Amino acid sequence: MPHRHSLTTLRDMLRQREISSSELTRHFLDRIARYDDLNAFITVEEETAMASAQQADKRLSNGEHGPLTGVPIAHKDIFCTRDILTTCGSKMLRNFIAPYDATVVERLAGAGSVLTGKTNMDEFAMGSSNETSYFGPVRNPWNRERVPGGSSGGSAAAVAARLVPGATGTDTGGSIRQPAAFCGLTGLKPSYGRVSRYGMIAFASSLDQGGPLARSAMDAALLLKCMAGFDRRDSTSMAHDTADIDGTLDINLRGLRIGLPTEFFDDSVNPTVLTRVREALAVFEELGASLVDIALPNSRAGIPCYYVIAPAEASSNLSRFDGVRFGHRSEQATNLQELYEYSRAEGFGEEVKRRILIGTYALSAGYYDAYYLKAQRIRRLIAQDFSKAFEQCDIIAGPTAPSSAFGLGEKTQDPVAMYLNDIFTNTVNLAGLPGLSIPTGLDDSGLPVGMQLIGQFMDEGRLLGVAHRFQQVTDWHQRAPEGF
Ligand code: GLN
Repeated sequence: MPHRHSLTTLRDMLRQREISSSELTRHFLDRIARYDDLNAFITVEEETAMASAQQADKRLSNGEHGPLTGVPIAHKDIFCTRDILTTCGSKMLRNFIAPYDATVVERLAGAGSVLTGKTNMDEFAMGSSNETSYFGPVRNPWNRERVPGGSSGGSAAAVAARLVPGATGTDTGGSIRQPAAFCGLTGLKPSYGRVSRYGMIAFASSLDQGGPLARSAMDAALLLKCMAGFDRRDSTSMAHDTADIDGTLDINLRGLRIGLPTEFFDDSVNPTVLTRVREALAVFEELGASLVDIALPNSRAGIPCYYVIAPAEASSNLSRFDGVRFGHRSEQATNLQELYEYSRAEGFGEEVKRRILIGTYALSAGYYDAYYLKAQRIRRLIAQDFSKAFEQCDIIAGPTAPSSAFGLGEKTQDPVAMYLNDIFTNTVNLAGLPGLSIPTGLDDSGLPVGMQLIGQFMDEGRLLGVAHRFQQVTDWHQRAPEGF
C-alpha cells in the first residue's frame, strides 16, 4: 500500500523504479475520490496529474530526476495556479482561474512534483477550523465529527488521511501549525521572508508565510527546500540557503537548551495536552537537552494585537475584490456604488466581513493611533520578549494549541473562542520567527496532540533537526487515523 510510505520513501522508490509515478498518482487520486466525504479538496486535477505523472516517468526512465520527481502533492487553494481554479475558499473567487503560478507552485513543479489538486481552506485563510469555507467544512480523519483545524484544514486532512504524502499550507497566525496539531502532522511555518509570497493570495502581508504540511520533519524539510528561496517578485523575500536543509537533520541534542515559557503552561491549556507535551519534553531530556524556564510576559497581548493588525492588513488587501477586476460581480447593481457594495456583500462570507469591518475601523482617522499604532508597539514588545528569551535558550517549546481538535460547530457562534485557538501560535508570526508543530501522542479520545517548537530567525535547520531527532526515537508521527 504505497500511501503508507512517507514522502521521502516514495521519492526514493520512484528513483529506484520500484513504483512508477503513474501508478502512485493513480493510487492517490483513487484515495482522494474514495474519501471525498472529508471534503479536503476543492478541485481535483485528475487529467493534468496523470499527464504530469507520465512525463515524470519518462524523466525517471532516462535517469533524470529532481528532488521530488513524480511525487504527488496538493496545494492549499490560496496559491495561484495557472489554468486551474484558485478560489481561496471564497464565493468571491469561485470562478477565478489565475493567469500565472505562485512562486511556491512554480518551484514545487520545477522540483518534479505532481499536482493532484487544490485543498479546501477557511475563506481567505481566516479561521481556525476550516468552517468558514464557502465550499463547506472539512472533516478531521481522526474523527469526522471534529474539525481538522484551520485555515489549512484541507491540506492537513488530506495528508493525515494519506490522500497525498505532503501538501502546502499558509500560516498567518497558526494556520499550518494548528491543523498539523489537530491532524497528527508535522507542519512548519517558516521565518518571514523564507518562502516567497508571490502568487499567494494576501491575507495579512506582514504575517503570511507559506510552508509544508507533512508526516515527518524529514518530509517537511524536503518540501521546504523545494519551496523556499529568494524571489525578486516578493520584496520581503530573503536570500537564505535551504539547499541542504534535508541533508543536515542528524544533529546531536546534547547541550541543547529548550526554553519553556511559563505563559504556555498555565491552566488555560487542556491537562491532557500538557501531559503529552511534558512527556515529549522528557524524551528531549533523555536525548541530552536541558529544560529552562523562560518568560514571554507580553504573549497575553498576542491575541488582541494580532486581531487588530491582521484585520487591518486584510481590510486593505481585500479592497481589490470590488466586482470590477476580480471575482464575483453582483447582477443586482444599477450604478457603480451598488456594484461595489453588492458584489462585496454577496461575495464575502460572515467572518471575512467581520475582519474587514474591524480592520477598516482600526485604520480609520481618529482610531488609528488608539488601535493600529498601539498594536504595532505591542508587536515590537512581543518580538523583544523572544529576543530576550533566546539569550537563555536555543529553541522554545510548548503546546501548539490549548486543546485537541474540537467539534464541528462548537465554536462557530463565538468568534473570540475561535480566536483563542491561536494563543500560542500568532505571537510567532508577529515576531517573524519559524514555528514547527510535531505530533506528541493522543489524548483520551484518541485525537492527536501537537507540540510547538519555536526557533530563532532563519533557524529552521535546527528546528527541523530537533524534531527529526525526536522522531527517530518515537513513532507518533507514523500513526495514521483508523481506517486510513
Ligand atoms: N486563526 C487565525 C485567523 O483566523 C490564523 C489564520 C491563519 O494563520 N491564516 O486569523
